[in-house]
Amino acid sequence: MLGCVANLYESIESLNETYIQPNQSKDTLLKPRAPASIPLLSLNDGQTEAVFYRCCYGRNCNCVSDDRRAICPQCGNAMTISLKYVAPPAAQEASAGDEGGFVKGVVTYMVMDDLVVKPMSTISSIALLNKFNVKEIEALEEKAVILGMNEALKLLKTSLESKSVLTNVFMKSVGK
Ligand SMILES: [Zn+2]
Repeated sequence: MLGCVANLYESIESLNETYIQPNQSKDTLLKPRAPASIPLLSLNDGQTEAVFYRCCYGRNCNCVSDDRRAICPQCGNAMTISLKYVAPPAAQEASAGDEGGFVKGVVTYMVMDDLVVKPMSTISSIALLNKFNVKEIEALEEKAVILGMNEALKLLKTSLESKSVLTNVFMKSVGK
């Protein structure tokens, strides 16, 4: 597999169930039933809404589309009547709750450049400094980043092509 999406999935797979919010399941992420239900990067904007369209002769037709330019195959009319998508109770609770997302917010998580994700502790941080052979603390730099829709898309794209995702998305443009 190219990029490091596999690392991300392995991280979720090996994450202990105790980190997952009670109303969520890892299988929702690992074995999604439909492409429309993969909120892997939950931006927590409460977006559980979607709009679908049907034709204006809907009484005899039972087709639905997510694009209003579609033509109903049953009656040949444009599908211009918008229908509101209603999320199931679990998804509504998740977006209405304080935390949102899939994992519990009380834990700090560490995301490596190759998208390996682990719960973070003081010990694991020190072990990491040791692993990367960091001798001088001054060499470290703290960097706060903004994570909006643009960055999320960049992360997604880069995760499919590179093993140093965070460096590519957040560090490269700054240096210039
Ligand atoms: Zn129709």
